[in-house]
Amino acid sequence: MQSKDLLHLAEQFGSPLYVYDAEKIQSQYNRLSKAFSKVNKLRINYAMKALSNVAILQLLRDMGSGLDTVSIQEVMLGLHAGYEPEKIFYTPNGVSLEEIEEVNAMGVQINIDNLSILEQFGARHPDVPVCIRINPHVMAGGNANISVGHIDSKFGISVHQLPHLVRIVENTKMNIVGIHMHTGSDILDIEVFLYAAEILFDAAKNFKNLEFLDFGSGFKVPYKKDDIETDIEELGKKLSKRFNAFCTEYGKELTLIFEPGKFLVSEAGYFLAKVNVVKQTTSTVFAGIDSGFNHLIRPMFYGSQHHIENISHPKGKERFYSVVGYICETDTFANNRRITEIKEGDVLSFRNAGAYCFSMASNYNSRYKPAEVLWMNGEGHLIRAHESFEDILRNQIPLPQAVESV
Ligand SMILES: *Cc1c(COP(=O)(O)O)cnc(C)c1O
Repeated sequence: MQSKDLLHLAEQFGSPLYVYDAEKIQSQYNRLSKAFSKVNKLRINYAMKALSNVAILQLLRDMGSGLDTVSIQEVMLGLHAGYEPEKIFYTPNGVSLEEIEEVNAMGVQINIDNLSILEQFGARHPDVPVCIRINPHVMAGGNANISVGHIDSKFGISVHQLPHLVRIVENTKMNIVGIHMHTGSDILDIEVFLYAAEILFDAAKNFKNLEFLDFGSGFKVPYKKDDIETDIEELGKKLSKRFNAFCTEYGKELTLIFEPGKFLVSEAGYFLAKVNVVKQTTSTVFAGIDSGFNHLIRPMFYGSQHHIENISHPKGKERFYSVVGYICETDTFANNRRITEIKEGDVLSFRNAGAYCFSMASNYNSRYKPAEVLWMNGEGHLIRAHESFEDILRNQIPLPQAVESV
């Protein structure tokens, strides 16, 4: 996408605004498929928590993608967007047996991540094909909040508990059709990924009826110029070869599954906000925008660095700015960032705003959530309307009459 298109969309739909480039999502999907083209049965399940707008789900469905979901509401959204139940995986953490049973009744593949639920579910539904989430305890991932494979992690069944797991499966006569792992986001070193894969292969040998192995996700995408990213092509070459060899050893052609979120949608997204005020202080120049961490929480939450451009004046002289939001507490998007000279009213564009941005937005400070636009075939399609005051009031129940002061 070009800056002039983004600027035009900000004028057309107002700010703040999320814009997603359909072509980029499609090219990332194709890139991943191509990297693993040597695997006969490959399946990509989009981890929809990254960006769950129905139009995005439809776009990926039309490309043949499946879905990875973490809540029953995500399953419902997936069905609503037209996914067949067989195309949906459900990988929850710490949810009730009731919710798992409800999702199972919808015909969706269940992935179980603790022994307690495994035992209860197995006792009640021994015939249901189940996938098991293993924690290989491999440290991958940048920020501590998105690293889920370590020893203290709440995710998955520890690989050290395999003997107990196998005993439960034998006692309940459950049908284990898949093994899953997801070691966290931002995997840089593909050797670490391959090492975790070996642990999964070893675990898989304990189960005779497998149909698939799910390697989760965690691919790192570039955030700024010259940033390192997961070498998908290299990983594809190495893991495909190893996976095919494992299938021969196992005696059956299994399906290889990935469930990327960030990889598919992060770079496709742009967040556009207008500068309300340029404020010179004794120590810095603040650019205050018409948004805050209620719309894009990643810099405050994960310390993530989103590249920022002044698309109104891209050719100006560069200066240093602290870009801040309007929320009434510390609300910093970027510190000491080099941006072309900003004037009040300019539109700033934040890169990598596709994954975990809108999906984490809230109405904090009673602000409206931004609209969302899908850029497709050179045109902007509104895929979520700007909110209104009615949305803020929805579901709120005022007291029947004025309360007397006490
Ligand atoms: C969040 C999540 C993903 C996606 O992770 P990304 O880093 O966005 O690719 C995949 N699988 C599971 C189980 C997840 O919870």
